[in-house]
Amino acid sequence: MVQSSVLGFPRMGVLRDLKKANEAYWADKISQEALLAEGKRLRLAHWKIQKDAGVDIIPSNDFAHYDHVLDHIQLFNAVPERYTSQKLSPLDEYFAMGRGHQKGGVDVPALEMVKWFDSNYHYVKPTLQDNQTFSLAKDPKPVREFLEAKEAGFQTRPVLVGPVSFLALGKADRGSSVDPITLLDKLVPVYVELLKQLKAAGAESVQIDEPVLVFDLRPEVKAAFKPAYEAIAAAGDAVPKVIVATYFGDIVHNFDVLPAFSGAAGLHVDLVRNPEQLEPVLKQLGPNQILSAGVVDGRNIWKNDFAKSLEILQTAVKALGPERVIVATSSSLIHTPHTLASEKKLPSDVYEWFSFAVEKVKEVATLAKAVTEPDAVKAELEANAAAIKARTDSKRTNDPAVKERQAQVTPEQHNRKAPFNTRYAEQKKHLSLPLFPTTTIGSFPQTSEIRVQRNKFTKGEISAEEYERFIEKEIELAVKIQDELDLDVYVHGEPERNDMVQYFGERLNGYVFTTHAWVQSYGSRCVRPPIIVGDISRPAPMTVKESKYAASISKKPMKGMLTGPVTCLRWSFPRVDVHQSVQCQQLALALRDEVVDLEKNGIYVIQVDEPALREGLPLRKGQEREAYLKWAVDSFKLATAGVENSTQIHSHFCYSEFQDFFHAIAALDADVLSIENSKSDAKLLKVFIDEEYPRHIGPGVYDIHSPRVPTLEEFKQRIEEMLAYLKPEQLWINPDCGLKTRKWDEVKGALSHMVEAAKYFREKY
Ligand code: GLN
Ligand code: ZN
Repeated sequence: MVQSSVLGFPRMGVLRDLKKANEAYWADKISQEALLAEGKRLRLAHWKIQKDAGVDIIPSNDFAHYDHVLDHIQLFNAVPERYTSQKLSPLDEYFAMGRGHQKGGVDVPALEMVKWFDSNYHYVKPTLQDNQTFSLAKDPKPVREFLEAKEAGFQTRPVLVGPVSFLALGKADRGSSVDPITLLDKLVPVYVELLKQLKAAGAESVQIDEPVLVFDLRPEVKAAFKPAYEAIAAAGDAVPKVIVATYFGDIVHNFDVLPAFSGAAGLHVDLVRNPEQLEPVLKQLGPNQILSAGVVDGRNIWKNDFAKSLEILQTAVKALGPERVIVATSSSLIHTPHTLASEKKLPSDVYEWFSFAVEKVKEVATLAKAVTEPDAVKAELEANAAAIKARTDSKRTNDPAVKERQAQVTPEQHNRKAPFNTRYAEQKKHLSLPLFPTTTIGSFPQTSEIRVQRNKFTKGEISAEEYERFIEKEIELAVKIQDELDLDVYVHGEPERNDMVQYFGERLNGYVFTTHAWVQSYGSRCVRPPIIVGDISRPAPMTVKESKYAASISKKPMKGMLTGPVTCLRWSFPRVDVHQSVQCQQLALALRDEVVDLEKNGIYVIQVDEPALREGLPLRKGQEREAYLKWAVDSFKLATAGVENSTQIHSHFCYSEFQDFFHAIAALDADVLSIENSKSDAKLLKVFIDEEYPRHIGPGVYDIHSPRVPTLEEFKQRIEEMLAYLKPEQLWINPDCGLKTRKWDEVKGALSHMVEAAKYFREKY
């Protein structure tokens, strides 16, 4: 029989219950016992969902109160001393590493948190010491949760982060210089001990995640698999059977590592992302090894195309026999929302196109049956084929006018009329900007008053006119404050925007929105991405009214503010029926019209934000990455190149690590780039001189995440540092990012110092 399995289930619960419980605990509103009880309730509920759906292999230890990598830091007693020395309870120590702890005389910052591969989930980085030791935590969480499930009648397969990935995803603590992978010898015995305890508790198999296998690996990391997995295999029957799991990419380039897993029971690969790796992987498996075939997408919200998945599964079954194939989700389902059943407002035709976690779990079980007994699930297969066909044929999906326009896109449309030098000369005259021009990144404080009025408007408690009048007043306030601060290029402050992607999605054809489809981003923070369901077009201008009003009351140039095509795409759930490059080009064409409309309405500085450009980078260097950069850059250029030379195009990025793809940043041909830089090393700016970057740059001069108002001296110092890397006529003075999370007092304080510092240098040069 073909078995079914799930690699991990979302932790939050139907109504983001875990978020609420965690936050209540942090605010001292509920006890530790109450929080732990809520965790248990969620785990039991999630196991039951999977069992009821008929899933054969149900995961445990996939649950985490904050992050599963953080769980392993505590599990292996790899907690840095600055936390252990606080003598907090284990739970508080855990949260202290995740989010910092500032309470009861204790003040420790969080460990570094970074993106989990190319997803929008963030994990806490294992942070290791030169003299690092490991030992198994008392009452290890994977064993505890396995037993909890067993007691409740669920036989589960514990999920662990593999020893090599745990180290390879870690880093040396500040003050240490250890290469984490060199600590393998110390970690492996602890790992084996953990596996022995799991076996003793009754675990028949474990899922060991080694997702780093999809990266290009350093030789040291590659070499680590053999000793690690040989030590596990040497424990024989004292440890559970091991399934090594990989996801988010193919592992073909790391096939030379596979002999290390010869003692493992099987291998899980992602066949949604890389179906073409099936054939080569089949050839690599040992004579008794199992293939766990990841065919149900853990990263998206679309209904599985059963016919397509069955084709893959049949190929596997033909090669291995049904006993050696497991039907699985491609990755953990933590990247998908909980259940479609919560969505009451989706258009009914569209509703049928989706599967969230609860529905995907059923898909896995159905597919497993369908491989060998299609008649037993005939009705499900037919319903699925009908839903897939309905989507393919839908008018919502296909807009001939959009396709027509895409077919007519020309190479020239991607290029500005003249090269930068000519443009700059015209812009300088037109905008009369001083040396070291000052500006901000777009948003001003989103006050509670703004949220209250927006809610009232959404609920119909105030009229569109009343709401519009309110927004105008907010814009007036923003303009007045910028007058007082004496900034050089103004913004309208974005008071009308709920979110930088949703706002545009709501104004474009081709999108739908959910009410409950939250996905964990980090800790208790969740995001609710809009969904692209069809060809995208712009029925009417989206931002012109606000920008035009702002410009009409402002004596300095007003900067129009748009979210770029790549960011709109990346921060939505994209379609899977057409390539992302096609969707991105559609977004670009819609934005191109907006850019041109802004210009027609007197907006001569236009910023198109692309903070998500870097996170879309394919995980490995090479062809695939270059192909992505090509269409991503082309989309930005198509969106922005429709204007006159005298109109200045800005773009913005919330980071300054461009080393890996500087050529793409340069190819955007934006007149001005504003980038996050205040917390980064100013040395990162060196690439701009090394590569002889000719255009203008505003590296952030202060951190907008902190309420602290930097002193005038700090601003001067920061600008001085930047001038070591950039020519004076290249340099803009601006904050790191938008100011929406700040209070007005903080904004006024910081910006007045910023402007004063700019004036000081203007005098000097
Ligand atoms: N213009 C946006 C703002 O200021 C940019 C946000 C971002 O870069 N994430 O809020
Ligand atoms: Zn930003």
